[in-house]
Amino acid sequence: MPRGKANVQFTGGFLDGQTSEQVESRALFEELYQATGSWYRQPEPGDKVEIIEGGNLDENWIGYLVHKYKKCGKNDSGYIMYTFVKELLVERCTAITKSGKQCSKTKFKNLEYCETHKNKK
Ligand SMILES: [Zn+2]
Repeated sequence: MPRGKANVQFTGGFLDGQTSEQVESRALFEELYQATGSWYRQPEPGDKVEIIEGGNLDENWIGYLVHKYKKCGKNDSGYIMYTFVKELLVERCTAITKSGKQCSKTKFKNLEYCETHKNKK
């Protein structure tokens, strides 16, 4: 194993049973958040929300699902283990930018807006 790298194994959630080889050790935080690939879009306010599996977020995205994992030691093979904790919905900032488009950042904590727009009225 090269210096500063480690192997990782996930348990539970959408990554259940998957491994990652030679991950940068400094990227292995106590908690990891992995986007599941499932996301939501709504073309216009009031339209039915569509659930999309895979692909990239388009200009009408309103949120995406993330799985939270917690580091929990090493297994017998020396792999660093991450266990699924919970599923979270990351939602899009609802502010409208100067160009007239919806901000593409994610909401800040429990607010309607992102870090940039959090003081907006
Ligand atoms: Zn924003």
